[in-house]
Amino acid sequence: MAMKLTVIGCSPAWPNPGGAHSGYLVEGPGRLLLDCGPGVLPRLRESESWPSIDAIVITHFHLDHWGDLVPWVWGTMYGLGSEGPQPELWLPPHGADHLSKLGSRLGFPDMFERTFRLRQYEEGTPFEVAGLTVTALQLPHYTLETYGLRVANASRTLAYSGDAAPSERLVELARDADLFLCEATLERGELDGEPRGHLSADEATAAFVQSGARRLLLTHRPAELPLDESLECAYDGMQLDV
Ligand SMILES: [Zn+2]
Repeated sequence: MAMKLTVIGCSPAWPNPGGAHSGYLVEGPGRLLLDCGPGVLPRLRESESWPSIDAIVITHFHLDHWGDLVPWVWGTMYGLGSEGPQPELWLPPHGADHLSKLGSRLGFPDMFERTFRLRQYEEGTPFEVAGLTVTALQLPHYTLETYGLRVANASRTLAYSGDAAPSERLVELARDADLFLCEATLERGELDGEPRGHLSADEATAAFVQSGARRLLLTHRPAELPLDESLECAYDGMQLDV
């Protein structure tokens, strides 16, 4: 069974020129969106009037990974989004409570649960969405609770780092995957904060080599830090078979 990945947006925490923030569409058999940062919703709307998505999974609550859930709410309450079925929205543990608190400041406490069918995943417990099996593994990312995702169908496996510092758990996340979609935010690891939160391209490559994954696609990369031509880097609109 095929699995297709479309990079909707791949900017780091600040946008690349003309770019959208984190959003990766996985298709095969259903349609699953990994993260939904600012700029992802208008990109999805370029090819369909309102996105027909079975489920969205959020890795963590930094704005560049979830921010377009807010206009998704408004478009569902007052726009074309009211016509289709509600997507499932899979959140980190306690994420529903977090969204309720955000909602009370952004509009309504229940604005997200009126728009999405809210679910919370658990560390290491596989769940089924859009005909795909997803497993979330907690990864170090500064002091924020953050997960990487393994997404599998009957024949293919995608590993997505979300945002992550170097760790053995990152290697486990990518173990033997067909494609490792891995952030490479930093020019050099020593430029990171403490505790660590992101990866350099060298650190992402080291995790890839240790993992036995078959293909590495770097992402979340500032445009001002171009990569060596031997490395494959995501770009908005990129499509590939996992
Ligand atoms: Zn982050």
